[in-house]
Amino acid sequence: MDMEEIKKEVLPDGSLVREVILKQVKPCVASEGKIRVLMELNADIGDVIPIIANMYPPGAVNYVKKKNILTLTIYDRLISLYPSGKVSMNKTQDVDEAFDIIEEIMKKINDAYEAYKEGVRGRDLSRIGPMDVHRCLPGSNCGDCGESTCMAFAMKLLNGEQKLDSCLPLKEPWMQEKVHCLEEVLGEHLMETLGWSGY
Ligand code: SF4
Repeated sequence: MDMEEIKKEVLPDGSLVREVILKQVKPCVASEGKIRVLMELNADIGDVIPIIANMYPPGAVNYVKKKNILTLTIYDRLISLYPSGKVSMNKTQDVDEAFDIIEEIMKKINDAYEAYKEGVRGRDLSRIGPMDVHRCLPGSNCGDCGESTCMAFAMKLLNGEQKLDSCLPLKEPWMQEKVHCLEEVLGEHLMETLGWSGY
């Protein structure tokens, strides 16, 4: 699929990324009838990639620290972010959808850059598993969250299929120790990502 590159100013006021160039469109080998696109952002994003890795549920994140390459399983597709600003995206409907999705990702990148300027650095969350979360949950298997056990909740939470706010017992004042435990395990950014709005 030969095409001319398309350059778009997506976020004119973006603090780090503002423009994107659609470099290449190919048929998607993973999903018939869809496309795979290669895009290029206007800035190097190497410093913020580790922070972006903390902004999505761990189950959706594959971060290769050695190469600083982040692959996200979001919007029902794989999206890879490279330090140079290159972005690849598969299972995409058309060019318009590619631009809609890259806009959302560029907003996250700029949020991560703001955090970076304030001294936030990425945490290695690759080893966090359901057991780590489970030990910080109330443990009563009460079912208020819609899951039959706290372990089932922990597993779905890490996959982005549950929200921390759905565990109503965690909101009780006497559960503060458990919440602090979660803050230590997950960090502030990921707590928010996983749907914690506070007490
Ligand atoms: S609401 Fe909380 S305590 Fe109850 S089962 Fe779900 S995770 Fe466990």
